[in-house]
Amino acid sequence: MISSELYRRIRSEVETIPLIDTHEHLMSEATRLAQPIDLFYWFSQYASSDLVSAGMSEETLQKLHDSQIPLDERWAEFAPFWVSVRTTGYGRTLLLAARDLFQVEDIAEHTYRVLSEKIAASNTGGWYHHVLKERANIELAIVDPLEDVDPTPLEEIDRRFFAPVIRMNDFIIPCNRLEISMLERRTGVTIHSLNDLLKAIDVALERAVAANVVGVKVATAYERSLFFEKAAQADAERVFNRVNRHPARYRADFEIGKHRPPVSWEEAIPLHDYLMHQVIQRAIEYHLPIQIHTGLQEGNGNFIANSNPLHLVNLLTEYREARFDLFHAGYPYQGEMATLAKNFPNAYVDLCWVHVISPWVARQALHEFIETVPANKILGFGGDYKFVEGAYAHSRIARDNVAEVLTEKVEAGYLTEDEAMGLAAKLLRENALQIFRLPV
Ligand SMILES: [Zn+2]
Repeated sequence: MISSELYRRIRSEVETIPLIDTHEHLMSEATRLAQPIDLFYWFSQYASSDLVSAGMSEETLQKLHDSQIPLDERWAEFAPFWVSVRTTGYGRTLLLAARDLFQVEDIAEHTYRVLSEKIAASNTGGWYHHVLKERANIELAIVDPLEDVDPTPLEEIDRRFFAPVIRMNDFIIPCNRLEISMLERRTGVTIHSLNDLLKAIDVALERAVAANVVGVKVATAYERSLFFEKAAQADAERVFNRVNRHPARYRADFEIGKHRPPVSWEEAIPLHDYLMHQVIQRAIEYHLPIQIHTGLQEGNGNFIANSNPLHLVNLLTEYREARFDLFHAGYPYQGEMATLAKNFPNAYVDLCWVHVISPWVARQALHEFIETVPANKILGFGGDYKFVEGAYAHSRIARDNVAEVLTEKVEAGYLTEDEAMGLAAKLLRENALQIFRLPV
């Protein structure tokens, strides 16, 4: 099938589509230029989690990122695990990046030095333009800036490549006074009551809207369930008062048992539920879509059932006027995701991250979504990488997958070739332009 004339026609049409990439964590080029980069920079996410899953210790993983340690020493610790990780979707993506962007055929004993040198040498101005525009043909990427990756303020994000969203987690799930004081610093609002916290949320959103954000992002499925009950303000305020009086240090301290949290995750539920509803109501007022992480969490040892998108039904039911961009096809809950996007006019299914988690799952899911979900509500690509080489390789896999699935649909007599071409443009570009009301 892959070699058929039909596939070649569809694949070359798909190649010409300037992508609207619904989700990235890419740092600004200036931030990247300020860092030493080598091969192990590519193991700062995803493949790193597979290394741990394969048995690498967290300590060894940390060592990979210590550029003071000679590359050869790090390779020696890495190689026994890479043998197992190179075959996963994440591993394949890095091999593709090495081949396509650096003409290095493998990540192996005989190639790692030269690949690492080439990656280091690429760290010059203009690399983003080359990779994102010239090679990946990504016209615009919606970026969810992570503070630990890049502290660049929303106002200064490079609009040649990116349109930012504002990440609201810190406003929705505060757990102690330290976290609330950080919200004070971010917004300039003194917070002594739940109402003050709502004022801080207003200030953050007003500033973000003034900086032309194109959406709101919520990734709380790493910490808690996606079921946000409608909580009474009085219950939320009682929890807030307990959270805010605790002179806590870092949440990590609680996690390793140094301090007892004043309010457990379970006890904090009414506050966090309440704040989520408040954030959604404000996103609606500003006409901003709400991007929600559902499904697999990055890293290891997560509570996966927290992220089942079916937990969102009450929000989808109540907030009909919102646009919910539901991430990662809900993987491994693709069927549940299809059901939601089929039922609810405000639910959109987004395949960001999925083509690298498993190219095969992405194709299966796309087959299912095409048959179940109206064509205006499927978003076909979001790179979800911190580094541009990953975003590039992901875009190649996504284009291949879309072309392959559409070819199969035409060969099966399900779509005409014209319908397939129209669908490709919707999946990879037009739907995102419409949902995010992008100015391109
Ligand atoms: Zn992400």
